Amino acid sequence: MEQNWIDQLPEEARACAGITNDFDSAERTCPACLTVFSAGPTHCPSCKLFIGG
Ligand SMILES: [Zn+2]
Repeated sequence: MEQNWIDQLPEEARACAGITNDFDSAERTCPACLTVFSAGPTHCPSCKLFIGG
């Protein structure tokens, strides 16, 4: 599992490593419908799920 080492890193380091699943990344993936959208909106544009800020 190549991502094991990434889980050990602090959030800032993950961002530098190009991980895109964190809330601080350039893209977000809705955990409910898996829609990928640009960071900024706090609600999923597809299912309106509150993602958080
Ligand atoms: Zn959604």
